[in-house]
Amino acid sequence: MVAALMNTRVEPHITSAYHTAIAQYNRATQYLDLEDDLVDFMRYPRREFTVNFPVRRDNGKIEMFTGYRVHHSTVLGPSKGGIRYSMDVTLDEVRALAMWMTWKCALVNIPYGGAKGGVLVDPKSLSLRELENLTRRYASELIPLISPHSDIPAPDMGTTPQIMAWIMDTYSMTVGYSVPAIVTGKPINIGGSQGRTEATGRGVVICTMEALKQLGKSNKSKTNVAIQGFGNVGSNAAAYAYEMGFNVVAVSDIYGGIYNANGLDIPAVLTHFKQTGSLTNFPESEPLTNDELLTCRCDVLIPAAMENQITEDNASRIQAKLIVEGANGPTTPEADDIIDDRGITLVPDILANAGGVVVSYFEWVQDLQSFAWDKDEVFRQLQRIMVNSYYGTVEVAEKHQVNMRMAAQITAIQRVADALKTRGFYP
Ligand code: GLU
Repeated sequence: MVAALMNTRVEPHITSAYHTAIAQYNRATQYLDLEDDLVDFMRYPRREFTVNFPVRRDNGKIEMFTGYRVHHSTVLGPSKGGIRYSMDVTLDEVRALAMWMTWKCALVNIPYGGAKGGVLVDPKSLSLRELENLTRRYASELIPLISPHSDIPAPDMGTTPQIMAWIMDTYSMTVGYSVPAIVTGKPINIGGSQGRTEATGRGVVICTMEALKQLGKSNKSKTNVAIQGFGNVGSNAAAYAYEMGFNVVAVSDIYGGIYNANGLDIPAVLTHFKQTGSLTNFPESEPLTNDELLTCRCDVLIPAAMENQITEDNASRIQAKLIVEGANGPTTPEADDIIDDRGITLVPDILANAGGVVVSYFEWVQDLQSFAWDKDEVFRQLQRIMVNSYYGTVEVAEKHQVNMRMAAQITAIQRVADALKTRGFYP
């Protein structure tokens, strides 16, 4: 118990992600003509689970860990959402991320509700064996809650395709047969989808290109892009932006970033990152801090790290004309207002980073049908859904005279509310 308490962060975040999620919801519902009971119902998570479980460390000692899984909504289908391993995980953060998954899936029109899970752990502090044991024990604690027809986990910050494979194996061993559709984001050889690894970053860049078209900026080689975060989302966004001909001037990870006004050679950066595990000391670049990255001279800023990065402290110093949110909840409501006042276009998280869950949906469909698609088909369908969702959101923004964040939230909340009305309250 002492170990569990030591693992539990007691001090609240300065700005909690849940505060952001609820503030966005409260703002969006003001534009909708919805009964109070519907508004109230959708504000609550449907179920919340906390699990405390033991893991044997390599030194033979048992350590307790705390994990969560929150199902925000199951109105439109089984709940869907990633699992995060991080020392910043709190129940409030998981609640926020689950709520955003509900809106994200509704916005891009895939038949899912929203969920999220998290374990309070620094995955880098564990050996591979410890990581596997922690994952298998957490997965077995989740057995009563997950199934291919009720709740389907996926990767998120700090989790990988290998971790998804262990979850799939643990579930399959428990029920006695292989169930690939229990998680998405798996390695391809056990039922993962082509293109899932690249999907979120690719979707971010698809949104960037549509937004730039609307802003009348189509010369990609003259468009400078800065990307915060070099995990799955940031690194794949950088790779695809480079492939599309953008000038990627800055990228960063938790330790800091690198900058080159003439553009970074992203394939070389990716090799350097793979070899050294960090971005620092990349040749032909200057070091810069994360704050400097967010406020550097660029046309497009892609926050792809984590929540609460663009705040009232730095929003007025941002030089980009377009912000495309690769992370979930990177911008606080206070910063949203500053960005809006300054006339900066922002493509919100639930739209911009939806590519991940869209290809997760394709993976689930392929697993349920035991029929694999090729990569071209995956990317063609991803492109179709992202572009349709982008222009659907633009239409709502014009109709209500609101920014893209409000338009995305309005669209998503309206869809869940309509389904809820049709289904009715039980009993
Ligand atoms: N964790 C990702 C997200 O935040 C993907 C979730 C999924 O694929 O289910 O959208």
